[in-house]
Amino acid sequence: MKWKNKGHEFDAIGSKYKELKGILVYGAGELGVELHKILKGIGADYKFVDDYLGVEKKYLGVEVVTSDEMRALMREKGYIIVLAFGRLNTGMLLKQLILEGMVLGENLFEYHSFVDFYLHIIAAYRYNKCFIYSCGVKVINTCTLRCEKCMSALPYTQEKNLSLEEAMEETDFLFSKLDFICYYGIGIGEGFLYKDLDKLIEYTMEKYKDNIGVFAIVTNGTIVPSERVLEMVKKYNISIRVSNYYSVPGWKEKYAKLCEVLKKHEIIIQDYKYDEWIDMGWCDRKKEKDRRMTQKKFDNCGMNCRAVVKGRLTYCIHSMAANEALYQIDIEKDELDLSEEIEDIKKIIMEYDLGFNNNGALTMCQFCNGYININKNKVAVATQLKRG
Ligand code: SF4
Ligand code: SF4
Repeated sequence: MKWKNKGHEFDAIGSKYKELKGILVYGAGELGVELHKILKGIGADYKFVDDYLGVEKKYLGVEVVTSDEMRALMREKGYIIVLAFGRLNTGMLLKQLILEGMVLGENLFEYHSFVDFYLHIIAAYRYNKCFIYSCGVKVINTCTLRCEKCMSALPYTQEKNLSLEEAMEETDFLFSKLDFICYYGIGIGEGFLYKDLDKLIEYTMEKYKDNIGVFAIVTNGTIVPSERVLEMVKKYNISIRVSNYYSVPGWKEKYAKLCEVLKKHEIIIQDYKYDEWIDMGWCDRKKEKDRRMTQKKFDNCGMNCRAVVKGRLTYCIHSMAANEALYQIDIEKDELDLSEEIEDIKKIIMEYDLGFNNNGALTMCQFCNGYININKNKVAVATQLKRG
């Protein structure tokens, strides 16, 4: 979407919540805990609602009210309820609460649309804070594999990894501007290849653990990290996400070794196995000429990998990396310069993260087939380029 009223795109919705007294998180399971982390990170006023926990009156250090007390607070006005449940319970409670007069999208929300949309607006308008679902710094630009259709075109790049000092500086800058990141990462290449990974994890988590939901390291499963890295992973509960490239010759053996070491350290991994992958189209250099089609593609693209690079927020880290590797176009106008002191910056960051920008799309969208939710160009997983 193209900015029409930068910093004020959501005034109509945001103004309803400027006087919000508090958020009632109904449900204390996995979704409730996720929401608690974000709400704590943005300094929101909130309480849990739970008829069983209500006896204890505190959960994760937060006040708990019963459903009767919740109804009394709703009569007072100024509160909203978020149903942090799975589908079955959400449906039942929506029915009850709507029949009692609560209005979906006004003072009653279900978890996913609340976290993916409304909460961003409430954070900016009520608390002058912003959070991003998935964002990080771009510390690593190298990889042990050479996938022909790498989403970030890494096999074609000349970019180097950041030094530890540069990485720490970028991290400090990011957290001086953004208040909470649900999924935090450190780059697009092979995470365990970063030589100061242990120090970077420690530095980041010691300073910013309250600003991070999950710190995730993405690995292609080919490297066994050092003892010191494993110690930091364990200590700070870092999430290890393995891209399962079982079709790459020799991969299974390396992965088995990694699993063995991680198991010994009682570190759980998340294994992401794909039957097919997508071709972003970077190497084809085919350009979409119809601007409206490019804008439509951007609006429908589910890419949610943001990054702060050299003081600028980039919407799509993969296209940024592909540009560095293959195109070298000036794409500064697509990014958000966070170094300037601008009024309403939290609202502008929120709008940018929700898909507003100067041209209604990114320059690189012209060359791109889109992210996984819209990309029909399927290819085999991790086909390797020849070395040399
Ligand atoms: S797709 Fe992943 S494993 Fe393959 S080159 Fe790119 S970053 Fe490395
Ligand atoms: S269309 Fe491509 S370049 Fe544009 S946001 Fe989506 S993935 Fe990134």
